[in-house]
Amino acid sequence: MKTNEKSMKSVKNDKIVKRGWMVLFVMIVVGLSGCKNPAPDKSAVSVKPVYAIAIHGGAGVILRENLSKELETAYLAVLDSALTVGEQILAKGGASMDAVERVIRIMEDCPLFNAGKGAVFSHEGYNELDAAVMDGSNLMAGAVAVVRNVKNPISLARKVMTNSSHVILSGKGATEFAREQGLEIVDSTYFFTERRWMDLQKAIAKEKENKFGTVGCVALDKAGNLAAGTSTGGMTNKRWNRIGDTPIIGAGTYANNKSCAVSGTGHGEFFIRYTVAREIAALMEYKGMTVRKAAEEVIINRLKPAGGEGGIIAVDKDGNIALVFNSPGMYRGMANSKGEHKVAIFGDK
Ligand code: ASP
Repeated sequence: MKTNEKSMKSVKNDKIVKRGWMVLFVMIVVGLSGCKNPAPDKSAVSVKPVYAIAIHGGAGVILRENLSKELETAYLAVLDSALTVGEQILAKGGASMDAVERVIRIMEDCPLFNAGKGAVFSHEGYNELDAAVMDGSNLMAGAVAVVRNVKNPISLARKVMTNSSHVILSGKGATEFAREQGLEIVDSTYFFTERRWMDLQKAIAKEKENKFGTVGCVALDKAGNLAAGTSTGGMTNKRWNRIGDTPIIGAGTYANNKSCAVSGTGHGEFFIRYTVAREIAALMEYKGMTVRKAAEEVIINRLKPAGGEGGIIAVDKDGNIALVFNSPGMYRGMANSKGEHKVAIFGDK
């Protein structure tokens, strides 16, 4: 009896051990197959954006109390739609340079910004436009200055880059080149807006130069190429065919696949003397700074104490974006493949 009980017990034990091995075997198989085919880790997928874009519509003394609710809504709406157009180009695999040009053309055609249609007046009562683009993949660049009759100076800057052997063209020669390239030429009255004309009268009365409202765009595309573009009417009441930082490569506009793409806005003379855009790229390249740290170093720590008001937008080769300004506000926006998309005006939002 006892022996029988013993043998039954041992059979039972055998069964338990066998079942244990089976469970272990199944666990190992499941575990191994799990190693071969890991479930998609959503947090890992979203670490680095495959494309990114930032825009600005000028920096300056932009305070909530000075901007009507209607104007604020109008600015945010244009920023948002321009940003969305750029984002869609990049999402479809389009080139960063195409996104930059398209976005800036939209802002040039909008009278709210100091570029294209809404450009400010010079002391002599002209609208003299500056613009530049730079391709970070090959360091090619194109720029135009003191252009009075070209509807979209950003497209002319791009033509200078791709269809001429020069980097900067100016004045009548630039317009002649635009005509040859088949770009739209407009009568100078196209650029007349009441708002900017009144700004000039006020600036003349105060014997001051004013700025703000320049537009810019920087982008990283899916191929890993960076591009930057900036377009402006310059400073209200500027004289003697003054040229600002916008068309000066390395001052108001710069792009290099090794570091970042930058577009600036603010008091141009300071941006030229502090080679703002290139300085940010150089701090990244030689000192290993992040794009945000580099931008803060230049805009906050160097430019501000010197009296240079303004800001920049930048995107680096990994899709990180910096929107940095030392003025009360900057019309701005950013979007990327991670689904981030926002526009803002004031210092706090
Ligand atoms: N930077 C431009 C210039 O000095 C002006 C601006 O950004 O508002 O021409």
